[in-house]
Amino acid sequence: MPNLTKIAPSATGQIMMQFDTGEQFEIAPLDLRFACPCASCVDEITGKRTLKRENLKADVKPTKIEPVGRYGIHIDWSDGHRTGMYHFDSLYSLAKAKT
Ligand SMILES: [Zn+2]
Repeated sequence: MPNLTKIAPSATGQIMMQFDTGEQFEIAPLDLRFACPCASCVDEITGKRTLKRENLKADVKPTKIEPVGRYGIHIDWSDGHRTGMYHFDSLYSLAKAKT
């Protein structure tokens, strides 16, 4: 599993992520917000996403990003959502899928 070495908003309004594989990606804040894996965005039993993309604000962005142990990050969003914890491996797959 690749480790995230850096995550920060970029000058273009995207979110820049760097991994210890040497790869660097930029993804849209909305894509990251939509990928939130928490129990209010994904049904814990079926694994189905209950969050609807059209219910998100197009200009949603992180207000705070902090590390969780050595395997993930926690993001506070401008829409008030703050229960999402993202594992490095899911960030990596998301970044790969979006580029
Ligand atoms: Zn969520």
